[in-house]
Amino acid sequence: MKKTSHIPELHDWIVAEKKLGRRIGLVPTMGYLHRGHLTLIEHAKQTGAFVVVSIFVNPLQFGPTEDLSRYPRDLERDARLLEDAGVDILFHPTVEEMYPRPTVTFVEVGELDQVLCGAARPGHFRGVATVVSKLFHIVEPDMAFFGQKDYQQYLIIKRMVSDLNLRIKICAVPIVREEDGLAMSSRNVFLKAEERQEALVLSRSLQEAGENLRSGQRSAREIEAQIRARIHRESHGVIDYVEVRDAEDLSEVTDIKRPVLLALAVRFGTTRLIDNKVVEVDTIV
Ligand code: AMP
Repeated sequence: MKKTSHIPELHDWIVAEKKLGRRIGLVPTMGYLHRGHLTLIEHAKQTGAFVVVSIFVNPLQFGPTEDLSRYPRDLERDARLLEDAGVDILFHPTVEEMYPRPTVTFVEVGELDQVLCGAARPGHFRGVATVVSKLFHIVEPDMAFFGQKDYQQYLIIKRMVSDLNLRIKICAVPIVREEDGLAMSSRNVFLKAEERQEALVLSRSLQEAGENLRSGQRSAREIEAQIRARIHRESHGVIDYVEVRDAEDLSEVTDIKRPVLLALAVRFGTTRLIDNKVVEVDTIV
C-alpha cells in the first residue's frame, strides 16, 4: 500500500493507474477505523477497482463546540488495517494540505441540510459536501462508497453528484453493527460501560418500530413517540431527535405510504450517537 499526505504525489499515482485502465474507488473516512469502514473497503475491492482510502478529520464539518480536538485518531493502526485489507493508497492529508488558505468557496446543500443532524449541527453538511467535493476533484474516482450509518450524508452526497453532474457512482453500504446491535462508530470508544449498555436501546427501539410498521402501524408521530418512550424508559440518553422521514428526500411524513427513514440522535454523557433504519416500501404495502 502506498501512503501519502501530498496531493500532487497522489495525483501522479492515480494518473498512472488510470493509464493502465484501472477504475478508481474512493472510500472517504475520518479514520480510527472499525469494521464498518472495512466493510466499505470490501465493497470497493469487490468491484475490482483500485482502492483509495482517505483519512481526514475535516475541521469544516465540526461546529465550534463540537469534538474536533478530541476526535479519536491512530494513523499507525489505521494504516496497518488498511494494508491488511488490501487497500492500494492511503491518502492522509494535513489540514494545511487540504486548506492552504481559508476557504471562501463552499458546496451548499439546501433544504437537505435543514433537518435531522443538519438542524442540530448547523454548517455540518456544508462542511461535508465541501470536503467530499474536494476529495472527488483530488482523487477523480469512478465510484465512491458511503455507509448508511450516515444516511443523511449519503443522500446529500448523492444529490450533490446529481446536481453538479459529477461522473461518480455513489455506492451505499448497509450499517455494520456490533454483535449486540450497537451501530459501529469511531465515537463508541468514548462510551462508559453503562452508557455502552444503555445505548443498545437505540438499535432495539428502531428494530421494534420496524416491526410495528410491518404489522400495520402507519402513523409517523406514533412511531416516533414509541421510540422516544422506550429510550426514556430504558436509558439516561438525552434525545436530540427521533424522526420518521421520507427515505428518498427526507421530507416530512404523516401517514406512512412510502419507504421511510427512522432516524435518531441521542446523547449518552458527552457522546452523541446516531442510528437509523430504512423500512422499504415492499415490506409495508
Ligand atoms: P467516518 O469515519 O465516521 O466519517 O465514516 C466514514 C464512512 O464510513 C462514512 O461513509 C460512514 O457512513 C461509514 N461508516 C461509519 N460507520 C459505519 C457503520 N457502522 N456501518 C457502515 N458504514 C459506516
